[in-house]
Amino acid sequence: MIPYLNLKAQHDPLRSEIEAGIARVFDSSQFVLGEEVEAFEQEFADHVGVRYGVALNSGTSALHLALLAAGIGPGDEVITVPFTFVATVAAICYVGARPVFVDIDPRSYTIAVDQIARAMTPRTRAIIPVHLYGQPADMDPLLELAARHRLRVIEDAAQAHAASYKGRAVGSLGDLACFSFYPGKNLGACGEGGIVVTDDRALAATIRELRDWGQDRKYHHIRRGFNYRMDGIQGAILRVKLRRLDAWTTARQARAAQYDRLLAGSDLVTPATMPYARHAYHVYAVRSSDRDALQRSMKAQGVQTAIHYPIPVHLQPAYADLGFGAGDFPHTERAAREVLSLPIYPELSLTSVEFVASALRQDVHAV
Ligand SMILES: *Cc1c(COP(=O)(O)O)cnc(C)c1O
Repeated sequence: MIPYLNLKAQHDPLRSEIEAGIARVFDSSQFVLGEEVEAFEQEFADHVGVRYGVALNSGTSALHLALLAAGIGPGDEVITVPFTFVATVAAICYVGARPVFVDIDPRSYTIAVDQIARAMTPRTRAIIPVHLYGQPADMDPLLELAARHRLRVIEDAAQAHAASYKGRAVGSLGDLACFSFYPGKNLGACGEGGIVVTDDRALAATIRELRDWGQDRKYHHIRRGFNYRMDGIQGAILRVKLRRLDAWTTARQARAAQYDRLLAGSDLVTPATMPYARHAYHVYAVRSSDRDALQRSMKAQGVQTAIHYPIPVHLQPAYADLGFGAGDFPHTERAAREVLSLPIYPELSLTSVEFVASALRQDVHAV
């Protein structure tokens, strides 16, 4: 049996270092924020190559506070894609703004930048490109458009730790960038976590206040804030894991390259790495016109797969009132029907990659 994800294999070799980090938190009793979280914020910001990091309790909170700090609110429109995890869209709704969707480019699975202008109105205030699967969106034309129209750019980098665009790190491209440390992400906490990074000191300060009840000092609430603070234990664990992120990303890329080789010439469409991208391969998704049968066959052969995502956000019942419907975003809808995510993680052995690939080819030949 090859699982889709194996966090135990990731943590076992780090166990003593992680336990030492947790012990430091117990010794200091700094269970919420504290020194470990502050150190992690700086180390993560340094890794991205930006000045400020504000650690939070989830990637969703990061998107929420990034939007609030950027001044987005009721009456505003925010452009993003319907082919994303629901959190991207939920956060826009949290601040009372309206999500406006633009279809994806079917090769990169990221926002079709040439369609953004058509979606803009006088109310448009921001764009949230999603670096889906770990591949950056085509940021240069997007940033140029945003600058021309004075729009904020908030990167949803929840799947794209250590990815880069034309040599510039993901997270350093927009006004603000949001990462998630949900356990299964490329850098995962042992619980929930997230961070906003930015080079803008004022935005960072605002987010720092908003995550901690809007206080500028204890019991002085200058904004209506939230309880979105990161746990000390997660900060300590993430510091240990951040030191492995680059090696892990290289290992993911090696597995992706091996899948590419082994699946070349099959009927499956393998993922495209765009020429501008250093892809972090959070997800390695193949496409098949008979995806559901393929997934069943893989399961029967002992390979667990996943679908990211089976229902685009504009077709989710919870977002029906946004006014979009079936047929509005054909590339998104087709991808949602055809993509199948294969196991890909640093601990996945190369033999397992071979096993998965041969299971796929077996099925493809059988159809
Ligand atoms: C995981 C994810 C989020 C949300 O992060 P959480 O930490 O789970 O709240 C947002 N956007 C995308 C694209 C994600 O994959």
